Amino acid sequence: MADDREPLPERLRETLAEHIQAWRFAGVEWIPQSPTAESADQSRVAAWSEPSGQSPGQPSSPPISSGPNRAVSPNTKPSPGQKPAPARFVSASIAPQTPNQPPPTLSTAASLFDQPLESPARTPHEKARMLDELNRLHVIPCTKCPELVRNRTQTVFGVGNPAAELVLVGEAPGQEEDAQGEPFVGPAGQLLNRILAACGFSRQDVYICNVLKCRPPNNRTPLPHEIANCRGYLEQQLAIIAPKYICCLGAVAAQTLLNTNQSIGKLRGQVHRYRGAALICTYHPAYLLRNPAAKREVWEDMKLLLRTMGRPVPR
Ligand code: URA
Repeated sequence: MADDREPLPERLRETLAEHIQAWRFAGVEWIPQSPTAESADQSRVAAWSEPSGQSPGQPSSPPISSGPNRAVSPNTKPSPGQKPAPARFVSASIAPQTPNQPPPTLSTAASLFDQPLESPARTPHEKARMLDELNRLHVIPCTKCPELVRNRTQTVFGVGNPAAELVLVGEAPGQEEDAQGEPFVGPAGQLLNRILAACGFSRQDVYICNVLKCRPPNNRTPLPHEIANCRGYLEQQLAIIAPKYICCLGAVAAQTLLNTNQSIGKLRGQVHRYRGAALICTYHPAYLLRNPAAKREVWEDMKLLLRTMGRPVPR
């Protein structure tokens, strides 16, 4: 039988390189613990808080909790002068498909699902073309979820840099997104813009998309069969963009990409893996609009993301 896969040593080398990269993330990063850092965090969170100005909750110890299956290091708080504990790294499933739900095939991207996201390399122009093809040929004409098709104004594919290092994944379009055809343009999107700005990003730097490409009626939570129908499109978007970093906004995105039922409270605060990319989860901006006290934890997650990306962490 013909076997056109790469020779095993090469694949092993790539896997090893991923692990080395992962441990580099874990080994050089740590969580600021000083009171100065905490008060700086408070002003940082306040800067992107709603104008109504609810203050963030009391500082808590860094929310680095154990991963679903594997705890890499204990969450110990260092004493003054001691080097803080490294950020945790949790290895999660690399293959996104479930046996019963293979993603829809797409001629240009279907073979990518058993490879790390960084391979093969594509130019930004090629990525843009492939994303456009995925959208025009597969997402826009999609009729897999009759209830969503009946209610949608249009599909909402994604926006931003097709060669972004960082992709943010939300849940599903809301009313504004359904009307405008762009993700995160409503109130939650405005808060997301402020969070991104606080991290030193603009919307043009990153790529933003959702698990579902259609708005659920009355913004209800996506149903399992809708997620199963739509996840292939997200997986294909990620395979084309091949980001190094993924940020899941809310439980639906986190559980979909990590193939888990763990709560967002358990999943956040750690670095997971998705096909070689570092994946960080945090609360959804819409949740923050209802629960402003959680902005503190989101800011911790954003700092973890920035440290993992090797970017400066604002003070
Ligand atoms: N909430 C989401 O999850 N996505 C959007 O695009 C808007 C609101």
